[in-house]
Amino acid sequence: MLQADRIVHTTCPYCGVGCQLDLHIKDDLIYRVSGRFDNQVNYGNLCVKGRFGCDYVHAPDRLTGPLLRENRDEAFHPSSWDVVLDEVASRLTETRDRHGPDSVAILASAKCTNEENYLLQKFARAVIGTNNVDHCARL
Ligand code: SF4
Repeated sequence: MLQADRIVHTTCPYCGVGCQLDLHIKDDLIYRVSGRFDNQVNYGNLCVKGRFGCDYVHAPDRLTGPLLRENRDEAFHPSSWDVVLDEVASRLTETRDRHGPDSVAILASAKCTNEENYLLQKFARAVIGTNNVDHCARL
């Protein structure tokens, strides 16, 4: 039987349930995923996404950093998080100031934790000033 070089304990990235899993890694390749029994979230169980859906990690065209384009007719190019986050803040501020807070909508994600989704709606209401908040689970 294949022996892992290392086993990484982590949280499933697919939904807010937060199942605990082990990534079995050989030669930097995830070859098996198993559910952890030592927790009260999933007691060793995983759905099909958590058990078999981690192969995207090795996709050669996977994005591993932020991309930016200055204009609509320009191609995206790699950038840094500092530059991209400044650009997003600048464009959100400009949109809100020019067209009003309700010109912005926030779409939260089932892949985020409850805490991250809480922060997102807080950002929408307290910083942007809009109640335009929705969640991908309603699609
Ligand atoms: S294994 Fe399935 S139920 Fe558990 S967190 Fe992942 S997607 Fe959600």
